[in-house]
Amino acid sequence: MEEYCIGVDIGGTDIKCGLFTLEGTLLSRWELPTDLSDSGSHIISDTAASIMEKLKGFHLTESDIKGVGIGVPGPVVGKDMVEVAVNLGWKEYRAAREMEQITGFWTSVANDANLAALGEMWEGSAAGCLNAAMITIGTGVGCGVVVNGKMADGFHGCAGEIGHIRLLAPEDIIGVCGCGRTGCLEQAASGNGIVKLVKREVIDRKRESSLSGLEAFSSREIFDAAKAGDPVAAECCEKLMGYIARACSVIACVLDPEVIIIGGGVSGAGDYLIDGIRERFREMAFPPLKETPIRIAALGNKAGIYGAAKMVRDM
Ligand SMILES: [Zn+2]
Repeated sequence: MEEYCIGVDIGGTDIKCGLFTLEGTLLSRWELPTDLSDSGSHIISDTAASIMEKLKGFHLTESDIKGVGIGVPGPVVGKDMVEVAVNLGWKEYRAAREMEQITGFWTSVANDANLAALGEMWEGSAAGCLNAAMITIGTGVGCGVVVNGKMADGFHGCAGEIGHIRLLAPEDIIGVCGCGRTGCLEQAASGNGIVKLVKREVIDRKRESSLSGLEAFSSREIFDAAKAGDPVAAECCEKLMGYIARACSVIACVLDPEVIIIGGGVSGAGDYLIDGIRERFREMAFPPLKETPIRIAALGNKAGIYGAAKMVRDM
């Protein structure tokens, strides 16, 4: 009887895995380090070995497992071909086929941001919704989109790549984006982006701030400083919240989702961030969409494995 499935979330430093029942109960959760050597060519075999080991511990055999779902940080076409995942060293890599060949388990691969959205819709902040978008604000900015209960991958695997919408005001453009252009959302409205904005103020412009004396600071420290009343930090946080709100207003017009979820490392800033985004969203949104709820993600860094398992369950 196929009563279980495996959800995997592959990141640049670790690989998160979960053993789930098909009803959505997480039975076991574990991690292994990501081996980036040899262009990431050991990642799938390491993951496969770790899954087999875990199943042995639970006395489960192949016939108990419906399949394996895998999230990767990059565009995926046809639930198999990873076009490019810079952080893993992969290029045009058929990750699902590789996993199937090693384990014999049916496998499906998708973009990690899209799977996080699916996870939040299964057991998280968007549970019960059929249409939702989840914005992940981490090092960069990603977005997963679920329409009528189905994850939207897009023709090129790039659906939801809102981090590269060029909407920054000219005065907030600092340097060139990883995509080779300038003015992309994630260049200011991400963990890395806000650090750049603050550095420009305290280092280049020598403005007085509680962050001035520090060698380096994180987006978390910036939000903490803003909450404590630091005007430079607050100004930069307001920029980030304004840009994310603008992105939400665009998403709302395109999808009209039931809810927009905000997740990723920067979402640790909590109510300060969400309230700020919500307030600016209400000012900008198309009037019939103003009340679209904006909520913080509930599953934290588990959203990816939940989504990967849900993808398997739904097949
Ligand atoms: Zn870009």
